[in-house]
Amino acid sequence: MGSIIVHGGAGVFADADVEAAKAGAARAADAGYAVLARGGSALAAVEAAVRVLEDDPVFNAGYGAVLNERGDIETDACVMESSAADRAGRVGAVAAVPFFRHPVTLARLVMEEGRHAMIVGEGATLFAAERGLTPSSREEMIAPHRAKQHAGDTVGACAIDDRGHVAAATSTGGTSGKRVGRVGDAPLVGCGTYAEFGAGAASATGHGESIMRVVLAKDAIDQLRAGRAVGEVARGTIDALVRRTDGEAGVILVDASGAIAHYASTPRMPWAHVVAGVRAVGIENA
Ligand code: ASP
Repeated sequence: MGSIIVHGGAGVFADADVEAAKAGAARAADAGYAVLARGGSALAAVEAAVRVLEDDPVFNAGYGAVLNERGDIETDACVMESSAADRAGRVGAVAAVPFFRHPVTLARLVMEEGRHAMIVGEGATLFAAERGLTPSSREEMIAPHRAKQHAGDTVGACAIDDRGHVAAATSTGGTSGKRVGRVGDAPLVGCGTYAEFGAGAASATGHGESIMRVVLAKDAIDQLRAGRAVGEVARGTIDALVRRTDGEAGVILVDASGAIAHYASTPRMPWAHVVAGVRAVGIENA
């Protein structure tokens, strides 16, 4: 049947947003698991889950993404899948893309085309138009509360399907008040997102500039491939990031047996998972 785990970003969720964040994470995990339960791929499951999170204004991705220093939205997203036939995997990413409600789908289209691994800015907008994706207007993308406040966190999902294929997806508005053109860890393969058949899948969240320096998602998958327990790897990679940088972060993992883990050094990170048909949801950091 497979397993799926999702996160709604490592950070500081206001008390008032806790229930909405948990409910949103649960809805996303259910949407992803529904794909797995009907025999769908891990890739389709993580895309479905992340689309639900992108639609939810409580999270910093798609609709509800935070604003940059000019008051605009520039989103980053990545998908990666790896199968028995293609262990090195396939990857697609977009970065600094304005005004698309579902950047994760754009990333998947980049992957499916197979010509490039990442397309940014205006090029991503042109590619989206070519694929028939219509941009949203500024008004449709900026959630009312974002116009007033800068907060919120990235979203991501990791899944394994019943053939053992693994996939990860991460989508974000980035850091609030960021420079125009700033790209975070989320769309960078191996930093915010990674998947390898026989090892597992990882999606990271938190201070992108720190996550890049430790190449967090790839490091986690290397440790899973070496046989370490998934819970230890989640905690170990985040503890190492905190030791080696001045950043904070969180990660979700699924391993090749379908076991999952989540861990964050921040006060809160909403998560939800469905393993063997049983769903759990929470927002605390471990
Ligand atoms: N990692 C994201 C970035 O730096 C932000 C986050 O996870 O909250 O763009």
